Amino acid sequence: MGAQIIDGKAFAAKVRGQVAAHVARLKADHGITPGLAVVLIGEDPASQVYVRSKGKMTVEVGMASFEHKLDLDTSETDLLALIGQLNADLKVHGILVQLPLPKHLDEDLVINSIDPAKDVDGFHISNVGLLGTGQKSMVPCTPLGCLMMLREHHGSLSGMDAVVIGRSNIVGKPMAQLLLGDSCTVTIAHSRTKNLPDVVRRADIVVAAVGRAEMVPGDWIKPGATVIDVGINRIDAPEKGDGKTQLVGDVHFDSCAEVAGAITPVPGGVGPMTIACLLANTVTACCRSHGVDEPEGLTA
Ligand code: NDP
Repeated sequence: MGAQIIDGKAFAAKVRGQVAAHVARLKADHGITPGLAVVLIGEDPASQVYVRSKGKMTVEVGMASFEHKLDLDTSETDLLALIGQLNADLKVHGILVQLPLPKHLDEDLVINSIDPAKDVDGFHISNVGLLGTGQKSMVPCTPLGCLMMLREHHGSLSGMDAVVIGRSNIVGKPMAQLLLGDSCTVTIAHSRTKNLPDVVRRADIVVAAVGRAEMVPGDWIKPGATVIDVGINRIDAPEKGDGKTQLVGDVHFDSCAEVAGAITPVPGGVGPMTIACLLANTVTACCRSHGVDEPEGLTA
């Protein structure tokens, strides 16, 4: 293996440390405690795990955590009423509605009912527009985490060729905007892209956000390129015993690590950074709402 491993777990711990230090200053200097409200509808086991771990880390950095668990059959009216209360609640600086939502709820309507200043996921249409026009916004957590790791590894990204595989609103598109904002030359690839291996081979930076286990092999990677693997896929692992599974990314780690200059592992790469960036966004939102200095280096 030639590539340097970009340790997202260690970097996320550092980011959480910076967040905790800023939270302590906000309390001491201004008497403010940043608060994050997380709304979970239904009992999806993966979502429950995410929400638990978000709540635990929110408290660990000294912020207030408000969890709202609603029944699977909660009506849109009731959910919008709760979001209205959270929008008005001065103790709440960040609101996250855990996705995906049950089918009877309109995701766009729900997201766009969150006060954009409290939209710590960065999915509100106002924040999407602000990011797209290079203005101060709340930035989606996963792409923000990827950008932070790239900046930490490379310093400047200016002039680099970047290929983002995936064009979702949550990861691919905002990732491309952020890379463009840092003056990369950006290509967005998707399921209709022709000659994907050749497109990826041109890249100094590859961000894979596809949702297909180990889709990107090492012979697609330009020697020395940096590979950021956003994918989280659970596959069977018969070698571990009957019924056992393991997490893998969208990148074939072993073959890519032979060729790449640097690579993020799965698990332990992008995942931990996503939660750290959620906490960073909450403290940023809190500072903006109170008109006090934002922490440096924790947003785009
Ligand atoms: P989506 O399913 O919303 O988007 C997947 C994208 O991949 C689409 O744009 C799709 O193209 C593209 N795609 C699908 N198949 C191919 C193919 N064969 N070749 C090229 N492109 C293809 O997924 P998300 O963006 O929400 O998530 C992507 C991955 O990232 C998932 O594994 C998810 O679990 C993970 N994830 C991880 C997070 C973390 O914290 N680490 C957070 C969020 C997501 P098209 O638009 O043409 O259909």
